[in-house]
Amino acid sequence: MTDTKVGSKMKVLVVGGGFGGVRAALELAKQTQLEVTLVSERPDFFYYPTMYETATGGSSEQSAVPLEQIFGDDPVRILIGKAEKLDRTKKQLKLKGSTTPIVYDKLVLALGVVTNYFGIPGLAENTYGIKSLDDAERFKRHLHARLIAEDEPDLNYIIVGGGPTGIELAGALGPYLREIMEKHGIRGRAIHIDLVEAMPHLMPRLPRPIGRTIERRLRKLGVRLYLNSKVEGASAEELTVSGKPIRSHTIVWTAGVANNPFFTDKDFKLSGRKKVLVDEFLRAEGDKDIFVIGDNAETPYSGMAQTALYDADFIAHNFACEHENRPKLAYYPKEPAYVTPVGPNWASMLWKDVHIHGRLAHLVRNAADLHAFTEILSVKDAAVQWTSTLDREDLCPVCSK
Ligand SMILES: Cc1cc2nc3c(=O)[nH]c(=O)nc-3n(C[C@H](O)[C@H](O)[C@H](O)COP(=O)(O)OP(=O)(O)OC[C@H]3O[C@@H](n4cnc5c(N)ncnc54)[C@H](O)[C@@H]3O)c2cc1C
Repeated sequence: MTDTKVGSKMKVLVVGGGFGGVRAALELAKQTQLEVTLVSERPDFFYYPTMYETATGGSSEQSAVPLEQIFGDDPVRILIGKAEKLDRTKKQLKLKGSTTPIVYDKLVLALGVVTNYFGIPGLAENTYGIKSLDDAERFKRHLHARLIAEDEPDLNYIIVGGGPTGIELAGALGPYLREIMEKHGIRGRAIHIDLVEAMPHLMPRLPRPIGRTIERRLRKLGVRLYLNSKVEGASAEELTVSGKPIRSHTIVWTAGVANNPFFTDKDFKLSGRKKVLVDEFLRAEGDKDIFVIGDNAETPYSGMAQTALYDADFIAHNFACEHENRPKLAYYPKEPAYVTPVGPNWASMLWKDVHIHGRLAHLVRNAADLHAFTEILSVKDAAVQWTSTLDREDLCPVCSK
């Protein structure tokens, strides 16, 4: 036993109540030699893959699960607060507004990413996002207000970002807007949905046929594509794209993320894209007591929920190996499946060399959501959570009838 303290439990502090942090805390808590504390800045786990549905009339329950529910009777101490200061020498972490440090033997960081506007003027003030329940609710309220108001001059909706989030939202937005108009008896108002992407095609990081299939599907749904088009600025009235204004009061920004600012001033070694450089055991380079997983780590498939879950299992496995004096595994990246829903009952799926699209891929996506819920909840709770993806939720009394 190399690291475990004799006579007392090893204190493992996990920071981040998202995919990586929650899964790591659940798995580590099964090891009786460890005392696990989870710190997160909010009391809920966000299931991001369904956030676009929540933003287009779906329930908020499907995209958020209280940490208390996830951990139930598990021996995990949960602290809600924002991790701010790190003292590596004393092995202490301080939360914002607190003077009492949290002491750790091992620290696991899974803080996720933040929205990046790349300094483009007007974006932060004049665009919507779908990265939290508050974002989704604000967006929903705005959509309602604009559709219902009779004197609104335009119904142009612009989504920026040709990655999965932008594509999913572009596919779901039209049907949702038509649903609201039908419920309110609004007729004769044309809707325009534009999707703007700086690269020459959608899903730029995946093989070309994936983007091509999705482009065809979106065009069929009536979405106008602006490819090779760079956003240069936004105001309350319009978005400037490659020198030309597009009029809109509803711009959604899904095109940029940056690593969590926690890592900037704490001597972490960062890659070119500012992710934390890690060794073969996912430890921050130069510090054997700090593990970095999920979106924060510089690994080949970082940026996917599946990777964050996988990383969490990987480090938990190695904690057990170390305790039992077994050789630890070296990290080997696992290629995720890419399943992107686009409008009702349709998805595109790429898994290794297999590319399918249509209804079958949509069923795969539903099954993948159920599977993901079982990674953090009991089978029974996961099933309940999964069925909440069928619920509709609206704050408007007319729409919720
Ligand atoms: C809209 C959207 C849709 C997505 N869809 C998919 C998909 O379909 N499939 C897929 O594989 N991936 C998807 N992703 C990506 C996926 O959600 C992320 O890769 C995954 O969440 C990463 O997990 P993580 O644990 O690294 O970070 P997160 O899940 O983001 O968790 C980070 C946690 O840390 C907390 N936190 C942050 N800073 C602090 C701090 N200073 N102190 C304390 N707590 C802090 C946050 O509140 C959060 O709880 C999507 C992402 C978004 C935004």
